[in-house]
Amino acid sequence: MSIQDAQALDREDSLANTRGDFYLPQDTIYLDGNSLGCLPVRARERAREVVEQQWGGDLIKSWNTHNWIDMPVTVGEKIAKLIGAAPGQTLCCDSISVNLFKLLSAALLLQRGRPVVLSTRNNFPTDLYMVQGMESFLGRDRCQLQLCGYEEMESALNEQVAVLLLSHVDFRSGQIFDMRRITEAAHAKGILVIWDLAHSAGVIPIELDACKVDFAVGCGYKYLNGGPGAPAFLYVAQRHLADVCQPLCGWMGHKAPFDFSQHYKPAEGVSRFLSGTPPVISMSVLDAALDVFEGITLAQIRNKSLALSSFFIRLIEQSESLGELSLISPREPALRGSHLAYQHSAAYAVCQALIARGVVADFRAPDILRLGFSPLYLRFVDIWHSVRVMETVFSSGIWREAAYSEKSRVT
Ligand SMILES: *Cc1c(COP(=O)(O)O)cnc(C)c1O
Repeated sequence: MSIQDAQALDREDSLANTRGDFYLPQDTIYLDGNSLGCLPVRARERAREVVEQQWGGDLIKSWNTHNWIDMPVTVGEKIAKLIGAAPGQTLCCDSISVNLFKLLSAALLLQRGRPVVLSTRNNFPTDLYMVQGMESFLGRDRCQLQLCGYEEMESALNEQVAVLLLSHVDFRSGQIFDMRRITEAAHAKGILVIWDLAHSAGVIPIELDACKVDFAVGCGYKYLNGGPGAPAFLYVAQRHLADVCQPLCGWMGHKAPFDFSQHYKPAEGVSRFLSGTPPVISMSVLDAALDVFEGITLAQIRNKSLALSSFFIRLIEQSESLGELSLISPREPALRGSHLAYQHSAAYAVCQALIARGVVADFRAPDILRLGFSPLYLRFVDIWHSVRVMETVFSSGIWREAAYSEKSRVT
């Protein structure tokens, strides 16, 4: 493998042009788009427009004239196209954590008599915390978190389980789950499934409708590039919409919010999952960021994502100075998402030393170096250069310098 191989792959890349849709800092190879996507050019333009013209100029009229009021639905429908959801089932709103509260409540209400919420031990902590909060709120006879390993999951599906809560792609290892097969196995036992798409939406083809998924949540600031703290999204299958209700029944989810009536009447359809006023500025930025996906397919994105990570794996394996890094993500491309995880006892310091040299990766406790491959703005030559920087960090032992072990609040 040489830089010529990387250049050849770049010449054949059908997504080479989307890089121009983003601002990318100089002298940086950004391998952390799985945590915070880069800034799309049109998102920056929209931020100015929404602040200066819409807010600054048109003020309150903008709720109607710029359709601010419909944004949770219109932005939700843009996301729906990326996740295989027909119209009328997806909303952009709140954070994953808050949306999980709404969906967990809705699912538990549909499943009276079944107290268990089953999830995996390695699931993203906020997903588990939200169930724990619900457990202390409702009491364990109504909600009980049960955790299992991946291998035990299917044998743990039984008539006590109300909801199976899973991440589509494991945030540490990058392992991907078979959405269709697992959803089917859960349904066979009368269990509803909530999928967390944080690490798959925008980078992996998803077929929520075709897989008969019940509920889903996902993130706006990772592969959707909506900016720090961008609102998240939720999905409720059409077949549940007539029967579900959720307890965060704020005025935006009311049938007629501007009637100001004293009694809550849920909106028809998925809008009943709205609570408060949408964050118009950040939702506008996400809205503009989503236009980057126009004219390209998720199959193209997926192919490039796997080509980038496979190229990276091969470069690491061929390097004599990188033998201490052990890959914990699946080697089989079909079994992994768009990031790779390597275990190393000094992963934190190594990560800091890389960042100091312009290769931005991240660290996940206790000992994982995580590298994300965002196909919309990474080139194969970037991958090649990032591995050269990793070699320098390891062969020089520079990561041992004390400064690289100082922990920040965000890792
Ligand atoms: C990033 C991420 C979240 C983030 O949740 P928020 O409440 O939106 O901050 C949740 N779940 C998973 C799996 C994630 O990767």
